[in-house]
Amino acid sequence: MRSEPLLSVRDLRVAFGGVEAVRGVSFDVRPGEVLALVGESGAGKSLTARTVLGMTPHDAAVSGGVLLGGEPVTAAHWGRRVAFVPQDALSALSPVHRVGTQLELAVRSVQGLPRREARARAEAALEQVGIPGARREAFPHEFSGGMRQRAVIAMATINEPDLLVADEPTTALDPRMRAQVLKVLAERREATGASLVLVTHDLDAVREHADRTAVMYAGRLVEYGPTDRILDRPRSPYTAALLASVPAADLPRKSRLPAVPGRPPAPGALPPGCAFAPRCAHATSRCRTELPLPRPLDGREVACHHDVLEPV
Ligand code: SF4
Repeated sequence: MRSEPLLSVRDLRVAFGGVEAVRGVSFDVRPGEVLALVGESGAGKSLTARTVLGMTPHDAAVSGGVLLGGEPVTAAHWGRRVAFVPQDALSALSPVHRVGTQLELAVRSVQGLPRREARARAEAALEQVGIPGARREAFPHEFSGGMRQRAVIAMATINEPDLLVADEPTTALDPRMRAQVLKVLAERREATGASLVLVTHDLDAVREHADRTAVMYAGRLVEYGPTDRILDRPRSPYTAALLASVPAADLPRKSRLPAVPGRPPAPGALPPGCAFAPRCAHATSRCRTELPLPRPLDGREVACHHDVLEPV
């Protein structure tokens, strides 16, 4: 894929009380592309994804550029050109309105369709995610967790946005439901031609669904490029540690990386130089004093001072 980026993020920084939690993140997402944001909890993945949509907390100071088709993303784009799939479907659905009514409202508010047409669109949207149209009369609490998440995907895609951002959309589900929900998300993304930013701990899902992957650590990208290259031949010691810790399954939240000691630093307690240095077996004195900047290496970008991992 060589087309112009749909989403362009440049030197994105997000700070709370003067402490940066996202520290100069840059990436592109091309039309129809899936970009996975991965890393341990606290790496800044969700904050980055939400900030891209302008969903940052009020006390956050944001700087850097986020352009969608060359324009800043604003609230006016929500539900039209960009849509969000959260981890917790209940946070996206009103508990006091029927699911079908919420879908109708979503499509009427954007497309101005008459009620009858909007109702037909809502039913069709439910069926497209594997929920019988007649269930439009149900309230969210009458759905299972997997059905609620599929209903949220129906809501996010009903107006065929250009960009979907899914923040750990399956973390709250059991493994069987996770696969179903990811399949539905992939089907709807493909049917609408949307791009997707997928925040996830599930590296199997990354391998299956993401064209490119951005690995985050302590608020920065440490490796960014084609998914197969990164997962098969990591060049950042942090990516290698992440992969070595997760042989075939996803990484539970708040778990330690078995392959490396310690935990990620808190945003206000970063060491000088490379934030991974205290945990990195390859750290040198340069790593402990100088911040590694992203550089091209073996078909991806890597923020590491040294070529300590051989290409396979
Ligand atoms: S810059 Fe140094 S400490 Fe950081 S990942 Fe690379 S080798 Fe390890």
